[in-house]
Amino acid sequence: MSLHVVFAPGKCRGYANCLIEAPEVWDFDEDANTAVLRQADPPEAQRAQAEAAARCCPAQAITLEECAG
Ligand code: SF4
Repeated sequence: MSLHVVFAPGKCRGYANCLIEAPEVWDFDEDANTAVLRQADPPEAQRAQAEAAARCCPAQAITLEECAG
């Protein structure tokens, strides 16, 4: 199973917790005050960070899916 990150930009409030938790997975657009998803399919080595980012998003803008393969 591999991890797939789904971002709902309309929910993002710009707290940047995701970037702090998983800088390889998330970036931040300061002009637009919104997160930018760098890797929707992060490698297994980034799983813990990607999961922490989803947990730490206060706006529930990040959901995770498990994909076969
Ligand atoms: S933690 Fe959530 S609300 Fe904050 S920037 Fe990331 S996606 Fe947006």
